[in-house]
Amino acid sequence: MSSRRFDVIVVGGGPAGVAAAKASAKTGAKTLLLEKNPAIMALKPCGQAVSVHTFETAGVKPTSPMILNRVSARVYAPNGRSVKIPETGYLINKTLLLQEIAAQAAEHGAEIHVNEPFFNLAKKENGLIVRTPKAEYECLTLIGADGYNSRVVRALGVNERSEPIPTLQYLMAGLKLESIDEIRIYVGNEIAPRGYAWLFPFSDKVAEVGLGVRGAPLKPYMDRVLEMLKSEFGSAQVIDDRGSPVPVGGVISKYIFDHAILIGDAAGMVIPMTGGGIHSSIAAGLAAGEVAGEASQEGDTSEERLKAFDEKYKPWLERIRRSLRVLRVIEGLSDADLNELADILDDEDIIDLANGLNVGRVARKLLSHPRLAVKLAKQLLSI
Ligand SMILES: Cc1cc2nc3c(=O)[nH]c(=O)nc-3n(C[C@H](O)[C@H](O)[C@H](O)COP(=O)(O)OP(=O)(O)OC[C@H]3O[C@@H](n4cnc5c(N)ncnc54)[C@H](O)[C@@H]3O)c2cc1C
Repeated sequence: MSSRRFDVIVVGGGPAGVAAAKASAKTGAKTLLLEKNPAIMALKPCGQAVSVHTFETAGVKPTSPMILNRVSARVYAPNGRSVKIPETGYLINKTLLLQEIAAQAAEHGAEIHVNEPFFNLAKKENGLIVRTPKAEYECLTLIGADGYNSRVVRALGVNERSEPIPTLQYLMAGLKLESIDEIRIYVGNEIAPRGYAWLFPFSDKVAEVGLGVRGAPLKPYMDRVLEMLKSEFGSAQVIDDRGSPVPVGGVISKYIFDHAILIGDAAGMVIPMTGGGIHSSIAAGLAAGEVAGEASQEGDTSEERLKAFDEKYKPWLERIRRSLRVLRVIEGLSDADLNELADILDDEDIIDLANGLNVGRVARKLLSHPRLAVKLAKQLLSI
C-alpha cells in the first residue's frame, strides 16, 4: 500500500466537498479530494433549486447549460390560496455546477480521486491517517463532506445526527405544464405533514415532483400529490423514483475536532425551513477549506485553531439556527392557521421566515392578529 502525505484531505465530492477542495488548494495547501462514486456527479436525488446568490458564493458564472430554468416561486396554502415570491432563482444542472467547482479545485492544484471511498481513519502525532480500499494517506486536516450518512462522522466517534426529513422525489416526463416559470411549494397537514410538497419544472414536459414529511409514510402522500396535480400530468410517467433524508434539525453540536471538520449534510448545515442545502454547503466548504488549508500550512490544526471556521461561517450558522426555531414554531400550526398566514404574509415575509432573517419584523406584523399573536407572533419574537 502506498502512503502519501497531504495537508488536507476532503471526503466527498458533493457541493460541500468540491468547494472545500477548491478553497483549500487555493491557499496553497496540498489537497486531496476523495469521492466514492466513479464520477463527480449529482447522483443523489436533489430538486436542484438554488438562489441566484449561490453562484456568487461559489465563484461560478451561471452559464446556460448549467441553468435549466429561471424561476420565481409560488407557495400554496392548504385552501389553495397562493402567495407569489417574485425573487428569481434557478433550477440547475447540479452535476455541471459540481464539475465546474471541481475544475477550479484542480486548477488550484487539488488532486481528485474518484472511485475511491473513505474507509476509516487512525490518529497519528499531529495529524490523521486516512484509509481507502486503494491506499493509505497521511493528512494534517480531514474535512468530512460525505453527506447525511457520513462515514467520517462515524469514524470520528460522533453519534449525533441532525434530525432528518425523509423525502421521495419523482422525475416526471410527458407532462403538460402550462407555465414553467414558477416552482410550486404546497404546505398543509393533508398534503405533507410537518414538511412540504414541491413541483420544480425543468420544461413544459419534465419536472421534479417531490415530498418531504415527518411522522407519516411518504408513498400515500405522494399518491395524493399526484392525484391533486393529475389534470396537468396527462400520460406522464415517472422516470426517476428515489428519495434521501435531508437534515433539517440544525447543525450538530460538535463538528470541529483536532485535525478534522465536518461540513454540509454530514453536520446538518441545511436551512431547516426549506431543506435547501446546496448554497449553505458550498459556503461551508469554502470556509472549511480555507481554514484547513491555512492552518495545515501553519502546522497547527488543533481544534482551537480550526474553530476559525465558526467565525467565517457565522452568518450561515445564525441563519440555520433561526430558521430551525421558525420551523419549530410553524410545524405545530393547523391548516386553518396556515390558511390565515397566507392571507397575512407577503412574499418578503415568507422569504425572511424561511431563511431565519428579520424574524422579529414578521412577528410584529402578526401581533395584531388575535389568534396568531398568541400562537405564533410571541414565539417568533423570542427567536
Ligand atoms: C430529494 C431532495 C431534494 C433536494 N432539493 C434541494 C434543492 O432543490 N435545493 C437545495 O439547495 N438543496 C436540496 N436538497 C439538499 C441538498 O441536496 C443537500 O443539502 C446538499 O447536496 C448537501 O451537500 P453535501 O456536499 O454536504 O452532501 P452530498 O450532496 O450528499 O454529497 C456527499 C458526497 O460524498 C460522497 N461520499 C459519501 N460517502 C463517501 C465515502 N465514504 N468516501 C468518499 N465519498 C463519499 C457522495 O458520493 C457524495 O458525492 C435536496 C435533498 C434531497 C434529498
